[in-house]
Order: sequence, then structure tokens, then C-alpha cells
Amino acid sequence: KEFAQISLKDIDDVAKSSFPLCMRHLFEKLREDHHLKHGGRMQLGLFLKGVGLKLDDALAFWKAEFSRKVGAERFDKEYSYGIRHNYGREGKRTDYTPYSCQKIISSTPGVGDHHGCPYRNFSEENLRAALNKMGVTGRAVGDVMDKVRNRHYQLACTLTFEAVHGSSCDAGINHPNQYFSDSQKIMQS
Ligand code: SF4
Repeated sequence: KEFAQISLKDIDDVAKSSFPLCMRHLFEKLREDHHLKHGGRMQLGLFLKGVGLKLDDALAFWKAEFSRKVGAERFDKEYSYGIRHNYGREGKRTDYTPYSCQKIISSTPGVGDHHGCPYRNFSEENLRAALNKMGVTGRAVGDVMDKVRNRHYQLACTLTFEAVHGSSCDAGINHPNQYFSDSQKIMQS
């Protein structure tokens, strides 16, 4: 199995410890706003599928949040289809794969969107605050910001991974699900 697995009951802990910043941000916004626009639902939804969240758990997860904003009935009518679709249970029944860093970095989020790569899209101030929240402090923050200034977003993410885990990541980060599985390997060892 390529990716580790998560269940609904420990998803908040796992998000804090092992999600890359792009997914942490979407996850936190969803918990805060009880809503995500389409680009965010796709980016986070496919990532969660990639980390092994089962379809039934995914539906329960999204429904719990969206119901608080739009009501359970509207969730069932308008949003559950998209989640089932991501899992290949609707439409052409394609089994969609989670987005790579390259794809996420090249996306163009609009107003009110929270998808994309924070290393590319956040203001310097917001990025510093987000890094501090992940436990990255001191010199490591400056090192990450240097990579960002040179538009090396995946290297910035790699340095964040190393600072958070106190462990090197020689291969570099090229996929959010790789960040997750490398993190879980370290956490479980
Ligand atoms: Fe996500 Fe990749 Fe950006 Fe890291 S470099 S935040 S994993 S898109």
C-alpha cells in the first residue's frame, strides 16, 4: 500500500501532525467556515482519499461540516455527488488521483478560495504565522522564506517538513500525500 491510512476519529490529530501546510490550511478553513469552494473540496477531498479515508467516512466528514452551513438536505442534494464522484462512484467512474505539488502550485485560486500552495499564495506575514503555528521557529523560518523568495516552493515545504519532524527529507517533497506518508513513517518509528 502506497499511503498510510487514517480514520475519522483521529483525523484532527493527524492533520496537526502530518498534513502539509496546503492541506492543514484547507482543513482548518473547513472546520472554521463549515464550507469550502469547489477547488478546495477537490484538493482536500482527493488528498483525504489518498491517505485512506473511506468513502463513507469522507461523506460523514464533509456532511458534518457542510450541514452546519447549508443544512443536511442541501448537502445531500448538492455536495455529496462531488465526493462520490471523487471516489469514482458517479459519472464516468474514473478513480481520480490526488493532486501533486506541481499541479497545486500552478493552480490559480480566486477570492474566497483556500486551495493552492500557501508557500506561493500566502503573504509573507501570513506564511510566517502559519509556520509558527506548525512549530517552525527561529532560523528555520528565515531559511523557508529564502526558498519562497526564490520561488522554490517545494524546497520551502521540504525545509518545513525537516524542521517540524527534526529529521531530514532527502528526496524532497513533491506530493502532499508523500509528505503525509513520510511524516507518518517518522511518527510511527
Ligand atoms: Fe502542499 Fe506541495 Fe505546497 Fe507543500 S509544496 S504546501 S505539499 S503543494
